[in-house]
Amino acid sequence: MQDRVLQKAVRILERPVCDHCLGRQFAQLLSGRTNVERGRAIRDAVAMALDSEENLKVDMSNFAGYRFHHSELKTPEARVACSACADVFEDVETYVKKVARVLTKLDFNTFLVGTQVSEELIGAEEELWERSGIEWCEPIKGELNREVGSRVEKVVKKKVDFKKPDVLVLLNLAKRRVSVEINPLCIYGEYNKLKRGIPQTKWPSGKYKISVEQIIAKPFMRATGGTNHKLHGMGREDIDARCLGWRPFILEILEPNKRNVRVAQLQKAANKDKRIRVRNMAFIDSSAIERLKRAQPDKSYRALVILNKTVAPARLKKLAVLNNKEIYQETPTRVMHRRADKVRRRVVKEVKWRRLGPRKIEIRVRAQAGTYIKELISGDGGRTYPSVSELLGVKARVKELDVIEIHGKKF
Ligand SMILES: [Zn+2]
Repeated sequence: MQDRVLQKAVRILERPVCDHCLGRQFAQLLSGRTNVERGRAIRDAVAMALDSEENLKVDMSNFAGYRFHHSELKTPEARVACSACADVFEDVETYVKKVARVLTKLDFNTFLVGTQVSEELIGAEEELWERSGIEWCEPIKGELNREVGSRVEKVVKKKVDFKKPDVLVLLNLAKRRVSVEINPLCIYGEYNKLKRGIPQTKWPSGKYKISVEQIIAKPFMRATGGTNHKLHGMGREDIDARCLGWRPFILEILEPNKRNVRVAQLQKAANKDKRIRVRNMAFIDSSAIERLKRAQPDKSYRALVILNKTVAPARLKKLAVLNNKEIYQETPTRVMHRRADKVRRRVVKEVKWRRLGPRKIEIRVRAQAGTYIKELISGDGGRTYPSVSELLGVKARVKELDVIEIHGKKF
């Protein structure tokens, strides 16, 4: 036996150290014990070694209250404050009360405590590690977070969640201050946009006064007392296009005071606005936003197309070329100011047409996500090819565009 544990303990006890800090240096040895229990066991073992007349260079204030048989060992009067943590663990109860006071004002289901320790405490811990090594240790932050977290859990009767807490409590030990970060509340849903001229998300310049996002968010903002909102859509339709197929989205409410709201009722309230329709609204984890944004479902459109010249019905058959056709789209002129200029390749899956008049046709297209439909029709001055204009040998333009289906809403 090499008694590495005891040798390490003696090096730690060269200075006054509390049971928390002593035990924490052995945190990775034995499970199902607290650091205090480890600390007590180790301290007892070192005390026994002292009593067996081993000559150990330790600070005797570490053994205040111990009674030794060996007569030369003086029992110290009183313990001295811990050189590693300045007895911060004795304040845990005070911090628990502070945190609980802040949390009881909030409506949430899960939380996590994060501690910001002072420079001095970090320095003292490093000094201890230099003396005794970091084998088996746990950082002081970890123990503080756990100690405060598990006691707050009992007081406020809510659960600690390490991955996605509703509320993050920050405990600043240097300033003895508690602050909270409230994580967003995310709600999944699917919308229709029934009226043209409304952007999907709120327009920064204020050019458009209303958006699908604002209409849906309104009742949720009122119910949750959130400070702001975001809407993440599975793609977006043009402002002048309707969206008659159900489009999945996630509504994010920032800093909600109240989380346990009745979604079905709020969905009903949003549906009072006849410019949109929403369905299937339900709470969802915020990690779903990334997956939703990555989803690339095919979309089907209905376009009312106006031609600048009459086209004979037989010639329309040329449009069949577009079935399962890979097309090339340079960045459309209309979005050049905000998108990088590059060539995209997209597959048009299916095209159907119906002649409505000598210069008017309805085209139904199913295309890969990210296809610019208006440009597929107009050709955008040759920047999209092939195009309806090119195939028909006339100038074609979209008068009305509707998204009629988003294929595959799973993500
Ligand atoms: Zn300590």
